Amino acid sequence: ATPTALLAATGRGAQLGILVSGPRALERLRRIDTIVLDKTGTLTTGAMSVTALTPRADGLAAAEVRRLAAAVEQGSEHPLARAVTAHARGLDDQPPPPVRDFGSTPGEGVRGTVDGHRVTVGRPPGDPAGLPAPLPEAVREAEAAGHSPVLVTVDGTPEAVLAVGDALRPDAYRAVDHLRRLGLRPVLATGDREATARAVAGHLAVTEIHARATPQDKAALVTALKEQGGRVAVVGDGVNDAAALACADLGIAMGSGTDAAIGAADVTLVREDLQAIADAVRLARRTLATIR
Ligand code: ADP
Ligand code: MG
Repeated sequence: ATPTALLAATGRGAQLGILVSGPRALERLRRIDTIVLDKTGTLTTGAMSVTALTPRADGLAAAEVRRLAAAVEQGSEHPLARAVTAHARGLDDQPPPPVRDFGSTPGEGVRGTVDGHRVTVGRPPGDPAGLPAPLPEAVREAEAAGHSPVLVTVDGTPEAVLAVGDALRPDAYRAVDHLRRLGLRPVLATGDREATARAVAGHLAVTEIHARATPQDKAALVTALKEQGGRVAVVGDGVNDAAALACADLGIAMGSGTDAAIGAADVTLVREDLQAIADAVRLARRTLATIR
């Protein structure tokens, strides 16, 4: 393609809300045949809210768990963290106490010391049966609703399960269907649990699901798909997607995403519009097909 045509296509992309890093990205966009979609913050809005808080029997009071969890989540920019802190802000007069020794593991959760207690907030164990009553039921109920269960532990004891829900983006089904009609194979990859992932994939008629995927698992999935001969794009928003975005043939970041995701991607969706992905593929195919 001529430089002028590529420049024109890049400009047209910008009008569609797609920021392309350069002509090579446009060329790769044209060739992709597999698209790995992150769930939280990509297919869903990421605007989550806490829909339930279930404390264990004879444990800490709900208000205390809420306070400790919000204290730790202050340090995280994950959409789940924002839901937990907003929940506390809405119910408590006092702001949460400060957190010390904050740490976070992408795809797992966060931890820190609050008022001398070690607190973790994150993904419950794969089999919740070992949790104290009635937390196993709380985990299953959250999943059945398509929400994410989040476990709070204090000094090593599981104290509560929060159900955190967000909505599918309103255009998610049409956007995925559009990609399918362009011949792309959609794959859902999420750090979230199997049952929650299935609920979302079911709405989108996506049958290939990789749940409980750590950031390394997401990158390994991309590598495996490439080894099978796929030309693989990844769409993601989080720190946990950065490795997969970087090793994809083409990385696509949500404009609302973290700096890590945007930095690792070749294309950024400025307007948060998932339809723009299919528009971009069509644009790249047209531009680079006609000029050669
Ligand atoms: P996705 O891949 O769908 O974007 P993530 O990999 O970001 O999801 O998160 C996967 C899981 O890790 C979440 O469902 C949650 O259980 C846990 N998690 C990650 N970060 C946090 C956090 N800051 N607070 C609570 N849980 C978290
Ligand atoms: Mg995400």
